[in-house]
This record gives sequence, C-alpha cells and structure tokens, in this order.
Amino acid sequence: MALSTYELEKLADEIYKNRIIRGSMHCGICGYNLRTLPHIHICPECGNHYNARPLKMEGIFVLNDTYFPLGEVVAGLLCALFAVALIASGFNPVDPVRLALGIACAAIMIAFAVTAYIRLGRFFKARAIARRIRHEEEEWEDV
Ligand SMILES: [Zn+2]
Repeated sequence: MALSTYELEKLADEIYKNRIIRGSMHCGICGYNLRTLPHIHICPECGNHYNARPLKMEGIFVLNDTYFPLGEVVAGLLCALFAVALIASGFNPVDPVRLALGIACAAIMIAFAVTAYIRLGRFFKARAIARRIRHEEEEWEDV
C-alpha cells in the first residue's frame, strides 16, 4: 500500500508536532524568536500559525524576501515611459495602432506596479523583522 503525498505530509506533521525548535527561528509575521516552542504551533506574540517542519517552513521568516524589487520597479517605469510616449504620439495625428500599443504598455505597467507594491511591502516587513532579530541578538550578546 503506497501513501499519497498528502498522507506523507500529515505523517511528517504528526512526527514534528511536539518536537521543540532548538535553534533560532523567527515568526514570519512579527519576528518573534520561536526557539523552545513546538515545530507546529501558534506564535505567542501575534497568533500566526506556523509550521517549522523541514521541507514545509510555513509562517517562518525567510531572509530571501529582504531584497529590493528593483527589476519590477525599473520594468514598471520603462513601461510607463513607453505608454506615455506611445499614447502622446498616437493623438497627433490619430494613430489607433500607437494608441492600442500605448494602452497595452499601460496595462503591463499596472501589472508591474502591483507586483512591485506587493514585493515592496514584503521587503519593508522583512527588513523590520531582520532589524528586530539583529537587535535581539545584540541584547543576547550583552547578557
Ligand atoms: Zn508572530
């Protein structure tokens, strides 16, 4: 009898449910240090449900989100420039192809802007958590 992926995940969660986190691991919402808490639990500070089981790592702070979304910002600005140039040149004389391309560029610019906005939010939140972690580590060193 073979186990499905879902059954294997449930089994792994069951094994890790009451195991204690030994090293420093931080809540993905508030940055609270989850050391000495179970691998699958609720953050005592903000109520975030986390799963710190290896290969799962949900609701846990990951340093990868701390990069600035430069690509999305630059691509969005370039699309905005193309959109303005195409739409402006499409009115005098009226050129439906340029206007359509300008509107398409504006739509792509909006998609980049939404992505950049979401990533910027993650970036600033991750920076705040990283700052909190650094501050707490410095306090630990002073003790
Ligand atoms: Zn938390």
